[in-house]
This record gives sequence, structure tokens and C-alpha cells, in this order.
Amino acid sequence: MKVIWNNEIVERSEVKIDMEDRGYQFADGVYDVVRAYNGKFFTLNEHVDRLFSSAEKIEMALPFTKEELKQLLSKLIQENNIDTGNVYMQLTRGIGIPRNHSYPDSELIPPVFTATTTIVPRDQTKMDQGITAFIVPDMRWLRCDIKSISLLGNIMAKHEAHKKGCDEAILHRDGVVTECSSSNAWMIKNDTIYTHPDGNLILPGITKIMLLKVARKAGIPVKEEVFTIKDLEEADEVFASSTTIEAMPITHINGNPVGQGKRGPVVEKLQQLYVEAVEEQCGQIR
Ligand code: PMP
Repeated sequence: MKVIWNNEIVERSEVKIDMEDRGYQFADGVYDVVRAYNGKFFTLNEHVDRLFSSAEKIEMALPFTKEELKQLLSKLIQENNIDTGNVYMQLTRGIGIPRNHSYPDSELIPPVFTATTTIVPRDQTKMDQGITAFIVPDMRWLRCDIKSISLLGNIMAKHEAHKKGCDEAILHRDGVVTECSSSNAWMIKNDTIYTHPDGNLILPGITKIMLLKVARKAGIPVKEEVFTIKDLEEADEVFASSTTIEAMPITHINGNPVGQGKRGPVVEKLQQLYVEAVEEQCGQIR
């Protein structure tokens, strides 16, 4: 399996990363995940822009231009024969000796970039049937807009949900739903779609941007407004969105059915619109 290591494509076994890398020592780094369908990237520009923006927010620079990165990524999925799958990209601050929380001048230490591929087919059955969720307090930091590799808050929340037999964790701060542990959270009430506005409390999901765009174009009312865990109890439909799961219905929350306890018509419509957007960039996927 080939991977990107800094600005080269190499065999995974050739990669050598120092144990003093600040990514390993401090989770001092950022990442992004982009998906390919039919061997073609979907929303590649948006994901590359977000990676550069996350890096800039922690005063890091990537060792190449956006164009160079896009070319490397395209070459990587070709070499690994990725038809439908995900590319995980990560940038860490590089070697930090002697250990010090404060980070050194970026010109003195080269950052470390890696990218790997995974084949992940679309799970249509799951997208039809939906998933279950459990509500967990959002205990993460206050810069959730940065796609940081420090994910303890997210992984502990998801683990909590899994222990309760649920697939995803819906996070809340003082009763206000922010997002899910690895996806954005949405609610539908009286045919209007609600999702948390961008800002420091959530990740600006690329899938969220695309869903907002296609919904508005189709004339479906959308509000980027906060909603509460109480609102969820009365919601007609609830769903989660991310690059990998697209628009995924949430049919049960804390063991209680949402609406009819199955995928609702608005989510189904959004799924269709999203697939059309994917097909415009990547060709037919059904
Ligand atoms: N929020 C969080 C916390 C996430 O981890 C993700 C997945 N990367 C998302 C939202 C959705 O982002 P995207 O649509 O860009 O995959």
C-alpha cells in the first residue's frame, strides 16, 4: 500500500516518523478526510482549503502548494486503485527536542505530512435504515473549528454511545446541540431543517456546506440556528452528516424513536440531492 510521506509517494513500510514528533507527543497537528467515488475526488478543493485553514489557525504551513497537494492525492488514489474510499491526510509540527509545550518557529522544524487511503464502499442499506444515537455532554475544547488530531473528547463521547449500544454520540453544551462526535447534527421540524451555525463550537463540515447548498437550491427551508436536546424529543427527523456517511438518518435517540422511528421523507430527499451533487463531480454511483 502506497502512502504520501511529506511530498513523496512511498510504500507504507518506508515511512519513518520520530517518536519525538509533536504529533505523537502533544497531538500537535491537524488532519482532513476527503472521499473519492469512481476513482474521482468529491469536493477536493473544499477539503484541501479546510486543511490549509486548520494549519494556518495553529500557525503551521504545509510543505507544498494546494495544487501540488491535489496532484499528489490524485496520484495516490490511482496507485492504490481506490474506486470508492477515503483519503486521510495529516500534518504534524515535526520533531520537538527538547520537549516543550511552546512550539518552535515553524521555519526551524520541518512539519510532517502523511496521507493514507482506505477502501470504503457506500453503505446504502445503512443509509436507508439509519443509525441510533446517544446524547452526551460536549466536553471538548473551544476551538472545534480546527480539525485537530487531538480527538480525546470526540472518541470518549463515541465510546460512551457505543457502551449504550448506540452508533453515534450527539453532543450538547448546556442543553444546546452542537454536533456529533464525528459528524454534524441536524434536526427537521415542520419541514424546516435546522443545524448549528459555524463558529468555534463545531467543525465546518464540507458535507454540511454541500447539503445546505442543495437544500436551498431545492427550496427546502434551512436555518443555521441552534436547537436543544429538548427540541430533539419533538423533532420530526434527525440526521448526521459527514464525508463518509453522507446524510445519515438517526432513527432512535437514547432508545426512543425519532418521529416514526425510521428514515423520514426530508432526509431521503436530501440523500437524493447529495447523490446528484456527487454524480455531477464523479459520475454515476448507483
Ligand atoms: N464534525 C466532526 C466532529 C467531525 O469529525 C466531522 C467529520 N470529519 C464532521 C463534523 C463532518 O465534516 P465533513 O462533512 O467535512 O466530513
